Amino acid sequence: MSGESDCPLCGSTQARTLFAGPDRLQGLPGEFRLLRCGECGLMRLAQIPDDLDQFYPASYRPHQARSDSLAGWRGRGLAKKADLVRRAFPSGGRLLDVGCGSGEFLALFQDDPRWSLHGLEPSPQAGRLARDLTGSPVTIATLQDARLPAGSFDVVTMWHVLEHLPYPLPALTRAKRLLRPGGLLVLCCPVADSCQARLFGSYWSGFDLPRHLVTFSRPSLDRALRAAGFHGKSAPGVVLGVEMCRQSLAFRFPGRPSWFYLAATALLIPPLWLLERLTGQEAVTTIVAFAETDA
Ligand SMILES: [Zn+2]
Repeated sequence: MSGESDCPLCGSTQARTLFAGPDRLQGLPGEFRLLRCGECGLMRLAQIPDDLDQFYPASYRPHQARSDSLAGWRGRGLAKKADLVRRAFPSGGRLLDVGCGSGEFLALFQDDPRWSLHGLEPSPQAGRLARDLTGSPVTIATLQDARLPAGSFDVVTMWHVLEHLPYPLPALTRAKRLLRPGGLLVLCCPVADSCQARLFGSYWSGFDLPRHLVTFSRPSLDRALRAAGFHGKSAPGVVLGVEMCRQSLAFRFPGRPSWFYLAATALLIPPLWLLERLTGQEAVTTIVAFAETDA
C-alpha cells in the first residue's frame, strides 16, 4: 500500500477516520480505512492498494457484456441519463463517454445520426466490448493519458467515474480542456451526505471500498467543479439509487434469500424517495455543468 496522502481536492492534511471496512462487493481480502477531510469534507481511502487492478476482476459488472442489464431499473436509469443529454443538446453533437465500460450508454445514441460518439475506457476487455457494441471509436486509456485534441467535444459524460480516481480534480480539469467553450459535462456519482448513506452507514454500497478512492459530499463536489472551471446544477431524480439500496441491504443483512432484499428495497424506496425530494439529499447526484469560457 502507498502511504497516506493529503486531501486530493484541497491539499489539507487534517482528516479523521470515519470507519474501516472490507471489500463487501467482491469479497476480496483486506481492510480499508475511509478518511474525511477536515477542510473540504471529501472522503478518501487512507491508503490506496498498490494492486488496485485485482479489485476489478473479470466479473466486475460494468466491464461485462450487455445482456439483460438494460431491463429493469438499470435500463430506465440509463434511458433517463440519455434523455438528459438529448434535452440539453437537442441538435446533437460530439459526445465523449469517459469510463464507457462495455458501451451501454453510448449504444443508446448509436442509431441517431446527429451524434458522433467516442468512448474512453481503461479496461481493454470492456473497451473491446464497447467497440463491438457501438461500432464507434473507443480509446483504451484513462482520461489523463488519452491523446485527444482539446476542445473537440460538445458533451462529456462521466457516469460513476470520479469516485474511482485518486485525483478527481485534474480529471475534471482535463474534461474541461476536451470540451469546447460552453460545452456540457454531465456526471453522476454517489454522495455521502445522502439519506441512504446516513441510513446504512459503513454498509452503504456507495462507499464501495476499495474501488471508490474518493466519495464526495455535495459541497465538496461543487467545490471541485468550480475549481475545474465549470458551473453546474443538479438534475434531481435521474437516478433513484434502487440498486444501491438493494446492495446495501445485502451488505447489512448478509445471507438472506433474494426476495428479502427485493421486498425490503420495495418498502424503503418510497419513503427514501420522498425524503430525498424534500431534503435534496439524493444517494446519487446527477450534475449538469457548463464549461466556463476562459477569460
Ligand atoms: Zn479536502
